[in-house]
Amino acid sequence: MKCSECDAQINVPDDAVSGEIVTCPDCGLNYEVVKNEDGVLLKPAESVSEDWGE
Ligand SMILES: [Zn+2]
Repeated sequence: MKCSECDAQINVPDDAVSGEIVTCPDCGLNYEVVKNEDGVLLKPAESVSEDWGE
């Protein structure tokens, strides 16, 4: 997975679960791991002031 901000490589563990937070090693941006039938996505999780719900 690549960071959308700085293009750094972000390693997502095989056993990562939905909702888990991974951090870009380069810019420090937080991403939430989202798993669905298409695979694993990274959703930017920097805006913690707003409640995103589930
Ligand atoms: Zn980054």
